[in-house]
Amino acid sequence: MSQHQIPSYLTPHGIGPWGVYLEQIDRVTPHLGALARWVETLKRPKRALIVDVPIERDDGTIAHFEGYRVQHNTSRGPGKGGVRFHQDVTLSEVMALSAWMTIKNAAVNVPYGGAKGGIRVDPKTLSQGELQRMTRRYTSEINIIIGPNKDIPAPDVNTNEKVMAWMMDTYSMNLGSTASGVVTGKPISLGGSLGRHEATGRGVFVVGCEAAAKKGISIQGARVAVQGFGNVGGIAARLFSEAGAKVVAVQDHMGTVVRESGIDVTALQAHVAQHGSVVGFTGAEAVQDRAQFWGVDCDILVPAALEQQITPDNAGQIKARIILEGANGPTTPAADDILHDKGVLVVPDVIANAGGVTVSYFEWVQDFSSFFWTEDEINQRLTRIMREAFASVWQLAEEKKVSLRTAAFIVACTRVLQAREMRGLYP
Ligand code: NAD
Repeated sequence: MSQHQIPSYLTPHGIGPWGVYLEQIDRVTPHLGALARWVETLKRPKRALIVDVPIERDDGTIAHFEGYRVQHNTSRGPGKGGVRFHQDVTLSEVMALSAWMTIKNAAVNVPYGGAKGGIRVDPKTLSQGELQRMTRRYTSEINIIIGPNKDIPAPDVNTNEKVMAWMMDTYSMNLGSTASGVVTGKPISLGGSLGRHEATGRGVFVVGCEAAAKKGISIQGARVAVQGFGNVGGIAARLFSEAGAKVVAVQDHMGTVVRESGIDVTALQAHVAQHGSVVGFTGAEAVQDRAQFWGVDCDILVPAALEQQITPDNAGQIKARIILEGANGPTTPAADDILHDKGVLVVPDVIANAGGVTVSYFEWVQDFSSFFWTEDEINQRLTRIMREAFASVWQLAEEKKVSLRTAAFIVACTRVLQAREMRGLYP
């Protein structure tokens, strides 16, 4: 294919996240039976909005940022998915992330479609005032397509409770009344849910324990390596460590630290909170060559940073017996094949990191009913849903002799396309 024929959603450097997603759909299509006639609906987003986000900087200059909100599919309910602030965000990335939300929400059977948003910005270059103005302008621009019954944003990379509070306030100001259900991952004082902050990492931990049991690995003493030490990776690392595992390696965007006897995760979290990175942490050894992270001797590897981290370039080095995809889309299809041949169990993102959207669903339900649950109730319900989702996908994978990813996609695509078929095409 010559350069000018490459579709705009494929990056010049090979297949991007949207290309990875399309390949995953191609792999599941032969398993969809008669529903396969609807599969094209999964290969294109329902709606994609690109917005200009201008703000006045603190120094009086005007800066413009490009923002996106993509609703991939709403056959099973309103769009649902996070908002990412990152310098590398592109429309194609947001399309892929929104599509994975469709699959994830159907895989764990929460009544949502899939959506995602983002702004192409390095938020670390903004003051708090600038960040707030950018968030509010972005929310106003996407206001026409979001809402508690339409599309419900949540935190993702570089967004948090505070950003969600600004989004909820901006939407509510435009509406004229408080609409707490327009976003999830809010502060508790604004209708947020207990347990939501920890939910994704907790879900990673819960399915990690299930996967370890299948592989005959005891969590007590298991060696865990984590890439990405933010909301997902940091919390998963802490829960593994509290359960008796040894976190032997951590990598973030700035550096890599290792310690054979296990890193004190709480101390590392305190260091990152103060310095913004694992770099300079004295409780572990620094590794200069980032690529060495993938070859660390461990039982469980948790990629919890960005997409396309595990590729044919490093999949062969991986020593872990289980990969728990905390991040969305961390493994390319070609790397998946290499890992499969090596006998590595990959617990796919659409199951492994579904704890976040599951408790987001609980938050949304609590907001609608204005009746709030205890943290114990939330964690128990979360654990039950994660275990059930893992068990049903495991069983299907055994029956059909396919990977957990293909099994999860079979479950999810079947649910989405059945809904599509039942609704029929309008007009
Ligand atoms: P976060 O902003 O809290 O943390 C991101 C972490 O990744 C940071 O430690 C950062 O240093 C690290 N990182 C960034 N670029 C990196 C690189 N090139 N190499 C190594 N590390 C790098 O983000 P988060 O909310 O923890 O999200 C992480 C991943 O989990 C994303 O793929 C996100 O889509 C996914 N996810 C998040 C949630 C959620 O509830 N927050 C839910 C499901 C999936």
